[in-house]
Amino acid sequence: MEHIYDLVIIGSGPAGLAAAVYAQRARLDTLVIEKAMVSGGQVLTTYEVDNYPGLPGIGGYDLGLKFREHADQLGAAFAEDDVVRIEDQGKIKRVVCGHETYEARTLILATGAVHRKLGIPGEEELAGAGVSYCATCDGAFFRNKVTAVIGGGDVAVEDAIFLARMCSKVYLIHRRHELRAAKSLQETLLGLENVEVVWDTVADCINGEGMVKSLSVTNVKTGEKTDLDVQGVFIAVGISPESKAFEGIVDMDHGYIKAGEDGVTSVPGIFAAGDVRTKPLRQIITAAADGANAVTSVERYLIEN
Ligand code: NAP
Repeated sequence: MEHIYDLVIIGSGPAGLAAAVYAQRARLDTLVIEKAMVSGGQVLTTYEVDNYPGLPGIGGYDLGLKFREHADQLGAAFAEDDVVRIEDQGKIKRVVCGHETYEARTLILATGAVHRKLGIPGEEELAGAGVSYCATCDGAFFRNKVTAVIGGGDVAVEDAIFLARMCSKVYLIHRRHELRAAKSLQETLLGLENVEVVWDTVADCINGEGMVKSLSVTNVKTGEKTDLDVQGVFIAVGISPESKAFEGIVDMDHGYIKAGEDGVTSVPGIFAAGDVRTKPLRQIITAAADGANAVTSVERYLIEN
């Protein structure tokens, strides 16, 4: 017979890894399934994390590794596999993956989110040829070049600050006249001489053959159209939940799994944690907190069922 775990955690970002730490301390027979070779999720591609208490200025990659090391030290078990779907068979939940199928009494869904696409001409064609979704991964290719960042949230502003260190000029293209990013980030951004914020402006088209040459934009207030000469376009217009494998099983809202702070979803025994669940604030600290709360809910469920 298949081994039946107490808990399978799907995803190894801050939510999944915090859940692994709490599950090990609760002595639950647990497996963490991760898609990528490296744990940490979105935090891995963050240049610097300045709002995780106690670790000011830590590199995102280093923080991701620390989360993983902590889970490893406590003896957490990991499997690298791609989750295709989950099945709810009452007291047993099945996790069907590309390589294996796993069974558990409870699940924590902690698959996080991925970068959202803009959907403009040139975006797909020039992806990897000047169009990027990760400034910390690809920024170094644009040393002394002109780049544009599209978006007005934390990621867009952090990316523009990061790129300003190496690019000769950075345009930040934002569709409104107010940034969504944290005020401290805005202050840093607006103090940089080689960053120009292009307010009330949307990107229409990314131009170039084989590599990015320019970005066509429109001012939504005046209707004025401009072509900006840029060699790189960094798209930072938010995230989409990674929840396709759970469709039809747990209730969702715009792809986010409906769950409160306790992680309880519409299906008994299945819990959600981190960016993939409905929540007002998506940060590393709230993802980690979700992992802890979800394991507490798992323990309660296992006692009662
Ligand atoms: P976000 O906060 O949702 O911001 C997305 C930005 O893209 C917004 O400014 C939005 O404009 C703009 N946008 C969305 N769709 C667009 C479109 N079609 N065309 C043009 N612009 C568009 O996303 P994020 O910056 O990726 O951050 C994701 C989450 O991670 C957030 O909860 C964020 O707080 C968190 N995060 C936190 C930190 C940190 O605390 N240091 C760092 C990184 C990420 P509008 O403003 O007009 O809506």
